Amino acid sequence: MITERYDPAAVEAKWQAEWERRGTNRWSESDLRNAKDPYYNLMMFPYPSAEGLHIGNLYAYTGADVNGRFWRLKGKDVFEPMGFDAFGIHSENYALRVGKNPNDLIPANIANFTRVLKRFGGMYDWNHTVNSTSVDYYRWTQWIFLKLYNGGLVERRRAPVNWCPSCKTVLANEQVIQGLCERCDNPVEQRELPQWFFKITDYAARLLDNLETIDWSANTKKAQANWIGRSEGAEVDFAVSRGESAIRVFTTRPDTLFGATYMVLAPEHPLVDELTTPEQRDAIEAYRREVTKQDLVERQKVDKDKTGVFTGSTCINPVNGTEIPVWIADYVLMGYGTGAIMAVPGHDHRDFEFAARFDLPVIRVIAEPGCNADTPLTEAFDGDGLLVNSGEFDGLSVADGKGAIVKSLEARGLGAHRVNYRLHDWCVSRQRYWGPPIPIIHCETCGPVPVPEADLPVVHPHLDDFRPDDSGVSPLARAKDFYETTCPSCGSAAHRDTDVTDNFLCSGWYFLRYPSTDRDDVALDGELTRKWLPVDCYIGGNEHAVLHLMYARFLTMALSDLGVLEFEEPFTRFRAHGLLIRDGRKMSKSRGNVINPDEIIERYGADTMRLYLMFLGPYDQVADYQTRGIQGPLSFLNRLWQAVADAQAGAPDPDVERAVHRTIKQVGEQLPGLQFNTAIAAMMECLNAVRAGGRKARTTELEPLVIMLAPFAPHIAEELYARLGHNGGLFDTAAWPAHDEAKLAESTVEVVVQVNGKVRGRVPVPTDADDDAHVGAARGNENVARHLASATVRKTIVVPGRLVNFVVS
Ligand SMILES: [Zn+2]
Ligand SMILES: [Zn+2]
Repeated sequence: MITERYDPAAVEAKWQAEWERRGTNRWSESDLRNAKDPYYNLMMFPYPSAEGLHIGNLYAYTGADVNGRFWRLKGKDVFEPMGFDAFGIHSENYALRVGKNPNDLIPANIANFTRVLKRFGGMYDWNHTVNSTSVDYYRWTQWIFLKLYNGGLVERRRAPVNWCPSCKTVLANEQVIQGLCERCDNPVEQRELPQWFFKITDYAARLLDNLETIDWSANTKKAQANWIGRSEGAEVDFAVSRGESAIRVFTTRPDTLFGATYMVLAPEHPLVDELTTPEQRDAIEAYRREVTKQDLVERQKVDKDKTGVFTGSTCINPVNGTEIPVWIADYVLMGYGTGAIMAVPGHDHRDFEFAARFDLPVIRVIAEPGCNADTPLTEAFDGDGLLVNSGEFDGLSVADGKGAIVKSLEARGLGAHRVNYRLHDWCVSRQRYWGPPIPIIHCETCGPVPVPEADLPVVHPHLDDFRPDDSGVSPLARAKDFYETTCPSCGSAAHRDTDVTDNFLCSGWYFLRYPSTDRDDVALDGELTRKWLPVDCYIGGNEHAVLHLMYARFLTMALSDLGVLEFEEPFTRFRAHGLLIRDGRKMSKSRGNVINPDEIIERYGADTMRLYLMFLGPYDQVADYQTRGIQGPLSFLNRLWQAVADAQAGAPDPDVERAVHRTIKQVGEQLPGLQFNTAIAAMMECLNAVRAGGRKARTTELEPLVIMLAPFAPHIAEELYARLGHNGGLFDTAAWPAHDEAKLAESTVEVVVQVNGKVRGRVPVPTDADDDAHVGAARGNENVARHLASATVRKTIVVPGRLVNFVVS
């Protein structure tokens, strides 16, 4: 029962039931096929934790929902699905902590999330939802693994990987944050294990170049470009002094080759054994053991102390034939470039520090203005200048020197121009329980054999004891029925791969699935995929820039190359929202300052919460939630409610009408750019104009305001729209209001202009014009100007809106 006073709980319950009954937000399969002007509005699907949704999720989701509702009112067919990213270490670790099986926890968590997502008024199509742990989703995750496998984009190889001793699994580089496990914050170590890799590095150039073609937040694109880390330079071979081998290095500074005074190999470099002399063997072995205790990210830190050991061998600098010593050091990694660097201490800060620490020679090969070949270096100089101490290349600029030296190496077969990337292949195997099994069978005769597509899904086995152990073997190996199988190729006894795939594979393609969830016979319906994808607008956190967003782009590109998709970029537009903090501080459980959205909705209603979250500040910047601040939006909704209750029929007041049309123009221009806070402020001002001096509003003045508010506060907007006399529902029937340019102009009145009391003209002036504007308009009249031309004005009298009189002599 809706009372005369604004009662958010009653209004919201009524309209949520009404939307449900009318199917306002639901799409049938044929609706999806027949949509005329499709707009795919996507937000990042949540991980359904036991704690429930937090207000930060709802901050993100409200902005995305406002965008979807706005485009719907603008006439687009907006598809706004929601789902659950429920596999992964986070769920599994929680299940271990509470001593339950994640299988038994996830359904209740999803039910709780769904309840809140409905309660807060998201325009979600619950007909098209995904749950990454349900077999009718993950069978297609396995199908994608096989597509990539059969397409030559999956490789199993032994590699040094990040191992979290606490989670007992490997981690992708992207999941190691400053040497700590992203999930559990424990230090990560290095291990060498056979792992499955997706060859994302094959796509490095495209992942980088395509950034030019997509409309994404600049900071997200920048983070991706940095992560891909393109560098241009040369690959150069240094022959070892004794033996046949050569050490290949990649350098971005071939112009400094004459300054290379030593060589550094990664401790894992395959030539280390061969190069290590008997006298140095113990020191080298001890150092290599030390290094395995560090993780790959930690090793690259710029500011750490330099350590290293001499191998006892030397190699030949190809540009001048000099013998230089070969060292190993932890700051050189196998995964980047070639696992070896030529050290140029004169012109590289890290090399300079290393040379100083171990007393290695420093040679200047670049001279900045005011220096010459003999000017000593007290620190590395990495600026521009002319080549010196570089033989025939002396006097060239850095840029010309690079080209000339590479050309000379190429001519002698000792080097070549080369582009290098920092991006690593994506390690997708995890030695854990809670993920989709990798659809591979290992046969002693045939080796790894992909599970035939017809045999999918490989059902995730239920295990009572699913604790990971330190063996590096996944708990799935304990499920005998699962583990033991026959080879699909030769029929002999074989065993299943026991690793599960990285959770980022589940989330790397979910947006492709939403439109096709009515089909259980294919992963993606061709027609629906063509119609709805790529995604028109994706909104989410920038913390996913190099994880989820990079993987999703890679998978889309790969599936496009494999003929599954007809586009290669998944998200035409991506916008990163800002971080929600509280009273100037980050929200966290340990601080005890986390806001539970249920409590806010209970107390103020979902509409007020939504409006307040969007009013906090620019959506793409840090937003500070302050408990008192919610009163403003609440009272705005109350005043609007009252204005509708008091509204009268009749012609609008021209001044009020102008304010309304200006607001329509502004809000309509700002919402496509997600400028929510300023749009809300404009609507608040507009209501002030409508109610100025306590006047009763006309229904025609209020109606556009109600429609513009609907994306932010959909429930109250529906109710007020009905109260303004409309049947059929705002989101089902209303259209976004259009402003009338003619009504934007201020209205004018005609003012009489006198000179010495005689009428000399009549001029239009704006109703709210000040005295100066009156005088200016009066002087602009031709006849008046003629009468004033040869006179001296002694006094000017202005009666606003009526008269200007010039007293002259
Ligand atoms: Zn961990
Ligand atoms: Zn076989």
